[in-house]
Amino acid sequence: MSAIQAKILIRLLYKLPGFTIPVSNCPACGGRPDRIEFNTQYSPLDHCADCGHVYTRRNPGKSILRLMYRDIDYWKQDKEHQGITRIEYGPQWKEFIDARIGAMRKCGVFADSAMKFLEIGCSEGILLRELENLGHEALGCECNRPTAEAGMKALGVKIKIGLFEEFQLPRAYYDVVASFHTIEHIPNLDRTFAKIVEVLKPDGTVFIEVPTGPEEYANTDHVQFFSDASLKRFLERYFEVGETVPNLYSTADGTQVGSLYGIGRRPRRPAETSLTSPPPQ
Ligand SMILES: [Zn+2]
Repeated sequence: MSAIQAKILIRLLYKLPGFTIPVSNCPACGGRPDRIEFNTQYSPLDHCADCGHVYTRRNPGKSILRLMYRDIDYWKQDKEHQGITRIEYGPQWKEFIDARIGAMRKCGVFADSAMKFLEIGCSEGILLRELENLGHEALGCECNRPTAEAGMKALGVKIKIGLFEEFQLPRAYYDVVASFHTIEHIPNLDRTFAKIVEVLKPDGTVFIEVPTGPEEYANTDHVQFFSDASLKRFLERYFEVGETVPNLYSTADGTQVGSLYGIGRRPRRPAETSLTSPPPQ
């Protein structure tokens, strides 16, 4: 199936019952939307007046997600503009790896002593390869099967294929759970954060990078568009300490682009997490 055929099929599935999940209130704060921020070819994007979060009014179900992340062309398009064309450990990745490890260092998340590290949306797994080389234990999760399989073969890394929320993973085991440019693709983030809390050690940390800026609205596989306040809302619901750090930089042609780092420290145990608490008897 070509990329164009897949887009047509996805657009059709968005119109049929049973393939999408409606979202009424803001997933970050529960507030009501005050306006349509943007219309994509799949779903309108609603804006939350309370926290500034922008989100799809209809979330993709599993059939649509499988179509979106079905082949390695997804990886190729994503990496092409970074000058990376092959999955192979080498100097072409230096800038990419340095940016990610540098961001974690800057935010006090990265330790040089051996860490147990889990990455959600690890793609081909190059960061896992680097972390193992540095003496850390690293596992990745990736829903794009061809990309994950190519990465495991070429880089010798460990990747679980499928949706992070559905894996059997050890509880209270990881020092760091990290996710770069991934959670904006995830429809039900409460499931994701609950699972992150479950697998982190009591003193563990989550590190997240998300893109920011209205130019992201045209990106039809994104379902969450974070504001500083909305990312903080998610973090503070699941962590005792939640903070955000803006990351603004210029591209080679002088365009200002940006992302946002989110750091959650000391996961709240499930009983303390409002959304997973049992109702009072
Ligand atoms: Zn909100």
